[in-house]
Amino acid sequence: MKITHIEAILIRMALKLDGAQPMASGEVKRDTYTVMVRVDTDDGLSGFGEAFANTGWMATHAAIKHVIAPRCIGRDPTQIPDLMHSLYRGLFNCGRSGPIVFAMSAIDIALWDLAGKRAGLPLYRMLGGSARSSIPAYASLLRYGESAAVNQHLRQALDRGYRLIKLHESNPDIIRAARREAGPDVPIMVDCVCAWQLEEAIAMSRRLADLNLTWIEEPLYPPDDHAGLVRLRSVSSIPVAAGENVSNLFEFKRLFEAGALSYAQPSVTKVGGISELRKIFALAESFAVPVVPHSPYFGPGFLASVHVCAASTRQTWIERSYCAFEDNPFGDAMHPKNGEIMIPQGSGLGLDPDMQLVEKLRVA
Ligand SMILES: [Mg+2]
Repeated sequence: MKITHIEAILIRMALKLDGAQPMASGEVKRDTYTVMVRVDTDDGLSGFGEAFANTGWMATHAAIKHVIAPRCIGRDPTQIPDLMHSLYRGLFNCGRSGPIVFAMSAIDIALWDLAGKRAGLPLYRMLGGSARSSIPAYASLLRYGESAAVNQHLRQALDRGYRLIKLHESNPDIIRAARREAGPDVPIMVDCVCAWQLEEAIAMSRRLADLNLTWIEEPLYPPDDHAGLVRLRSVSSIPVAAGENVSNLFEFKRLFEAGALSYAQPSVTKVGGISELRKIFALAESFAVPVVPHSPYFGPGFLASVHVCAASTRQTWIERSYCAFEDNPFGDAMHPKNGEIMIPQGSGLGLDPDMQLVEKLRVA
């Protein structure tokens, strides 16, 4: 069996806005870019994957098209470890992190999608199965930077059945107001998006200490300040989460050995796909660190995260970005019901995109 064609697909999805203005990198956020990959094989199947896009989407798209695809055409898609290993070995001098490994992540996800489709099994069953039929989702609110919009969306998410909330805010007054709105018992996580340096983070964690936060996420800039995370954990009563900017298994090992994380948040579209995410789950288990993957995705990246969580022995939550789009090629099937994401039962990832919508939204 052979891989016959690989297509890198960049789509732009416009957010459905409801008056409040979500922010990203200091600007109003109106859309999100997604780099998908479609891997075709000579048995007539197509598998889909997703690579981290964000502000670097051009580089990730080019990495798939010009670097990764030519190395995969003609290879056997049923030999996932062998194919991925040859990519790592062939590209280690520029593929330890960033767009090259993001592109490899997409290929790995697509290969697993193909493997499940060929076997006629949902991916979580390929990974060993699950006793669960659903996973609790947390509502990962966009960043608004003002209390009224944060509290409006927090209330709406709770009314829609979510039982866990994450804020993307670093202003302690906004976080305090959100706790008041949610009441004392709703678990609240706070993602600071690398807002602070160590001393400031220590001061902030003291200001937030009485709010019963489940974790404080990426408190430090740069995210590579592992020693800073260790120090913060030693003086803060709030658990520390990080990992979405960690590049690979080996960097996670260093973080675990240092005792830098209360929660690990590997991102399937960044660390090398399903194969590497599973290794990070196992490694984390050996250090007794819970894993709650970074998964603010709307297609293969999200589905892959759900399947890996489902097949984990440990209970975990799944991150669900709390937003809606004018058009989404993967439809509404991934919306939680009563705060739970149903584990997809179709073969492979369990859901293929609507290709007509993909073509409508496609920019490259
Ligand atoms: Mg985050």
